[in-house]
This record gives sequence, C-alpha cells and structure tokens, in this order.
Amino acid sequence: MKEIVVPDRYNYIACFLTLDCNLKCDYCINNHHGIYKHKNVNRSGKDWVSGLNRLVCRTDLPVTLQGGEPSLHPDFIWIIKNIKKQLNSDILTNLLFDIDRFIKEIDPARLYRDALYPSIRVSYHPHFMKLEKLISKVLKMQKAGFSIGVYGILHPNLESEMAEAKDKCFKSGIDFREKEFLGKFDGKLYGKYFYPDAVSGNIKKNYICRNSELIIGPDTNVFKCHHDLYGGFSAIGNLSDPGFEIKDIFRACANYGDCNPCDIKIKTNRFQVYGHTSVEIKDIRVNS
Ligand code: SF4
Ligand code: SF4
Repeated sequence: MKEIVVPDRYNYIACFLTLDCNLKCDYCINNHHGIYKHKNVNRSGKDWVSGLNRLVCRTDLPVTLQGGEPSLHPDFIWIIKNIKKQLNSDILTNLLFDIDRFIKEIDPARLYRDALYPSIRVSYHPHFMKLEKLISKVLKMQKAGFSIGVYGILHPNLESEMAEAKDKCFKSGIDFREKEFLGKFDGKLYGKYFYPDAVSGNIKKNYICRNSELIIGPDTNVFKCHHDLYGGFSAIGNLSDPGFEIKDIFRACANYGDCNPCDIKIKTNRFQVYGHTSVEIKDIRVNS
C-alpha cells in the first residue's frame, strides 16, 4: 500500500487502539456531554501495524498509543514491537497492566526520544489507584530504562490527592505534571479554550474546520476531530484503505458548539510553547 504523508504542520498522531477502559472515571473526557456513541470494533494488531507503517512524518512527531486504555488491546505489546523503526512511539496509559512482561519484552530505546516530556505518560486516578503502588511501578519502569512520568488531572474534587501525588512523586524522583481539568463540574465550565463558543452547547452550522492532529479510532478510521470519534460520526478515511491520503483542508462542520474540549483547549505545541490549539475554525459567513 502507498505511503501516507503526514503534513509537516501536524502536531500529534493519536492512535486510539481501543476506547475500552478498565476504569470508570467520572471526569473522563471520552464521554464529554455523555455523547459517547462509538461502537466500532477494535482492529487487530496486524491491521494497526500495517496502517501505521504507511505513515511518513517528521522524526520528532511520534505515534501516540492511547485510548481508553491502550494496554487492553490484545496485541498491545506486539504493536509496539512491530511499528517501523522510523516512527517514534509514545504511550498514554493508566499503567494497570503487567509491567514485568512489558519490561521483559520491550526495549526502552524503542520508546525513547529526545523530548521535553516522558514517552510513557501515566495518568493517576486516585479513586481507583493506590499512590504508593503506582509510584513503585513507575520506579521499576524507570529503573528498567523507560522514559516515564505521571500526570494528574486538576479536578476540583481531587486537589489534595494531586498535591500529595506531586509531592511524593517529586520526592521519589518521578516527573509529575499537572493536567488541566476540562469540562463542566457543579455547573461551572473548566478549561481555557481558544474558541470558548465551541463548547457552549449552542450548535451552529456555518463553520469550517481543519485539524493539526491525526485522530485514528479503534477501527483505524480517521476522524476530523475527537468530537467525531467519540460521538460515532462519519470518518474521513481509514488507514487500511489503499487510496487513503491526508488532505490538509478545511471541512464543513454542522456541530460547532458541541466540540470536544480536547480539540479546542489552549495548550502547548510540540515545542512546548503555550498558546496552541489543535483545530482552526472559521465562520464561513465572515470568511466567504
Ligand atoms: S483511565 Fe482515562 S480513559 Fe479510562 S476512564 Fe479514566 S480518564 Fe477515561
Ligand atoms: S468545529 Fe468542532 S466538532 Fe466541528 S470539526 Fe471542528 S472540532 Fe470537530
């Protein structure tokens, strides 16, 4: 199958190996507005690898294996081992998997690159995890040579738990970073958004939008944004389609106002410069 060229301006390649998860965090962004309707089945490791290995991109742009919880994919380890060497890989995980098998089978160099953040980014969810156990697993992975750090979500209900995790990780020599809580809690909207209107719930139909992220769902379908992936909207292509190519264009969208916070939050770009957002949105009445 022909190569798939990822535009140089792209900042992220999100590979949702599965949207299944072994936890049920009530703040999970996958279920924004309770619109989670994605029903597509997970593709095999072979399908994932043959699709991902078609990608041609900048060397500083990794493929990020995430979910849901990516380790629930039955071929998780096989996928990591078989992604072509020209692609760097990152993992977002809750680390609730067999790390001994992982350490035995994966060469840390496979997941290492010169970046300002760890390659394995572990999310800490206090309602479901014991902090001491998490720290000991992370230290074991670190000792085995993996680039790994812990991320805590700044949910208003979890402030003391995150402060404790930050302190204990710091004292243990673990890179701990805080992530902004996105979405509504107690009637208040949290998060900083490039297009505040886009999360208002007030849907408008005259917008066009283009992404700087490649969003690949569990069925290797490619979506124009997280909203479409989680909400079960139509895909714009599939990695296993021999003719698939990434068209870096603005597309019409009838769902502006119901955007997923992930797509429009203000964040850092790949150079860790703050002020970036994934999507660019235009009102066609103003721009036509
Ligand atoms: S671990 Fe992550 S993906 Fe799973 S329910 Fe919690 S927030 Fe969602
Ligand atoms: S406007 Fe919002 S819902 Fe529409 S494509 Fe862009 S990010 Fe997705």
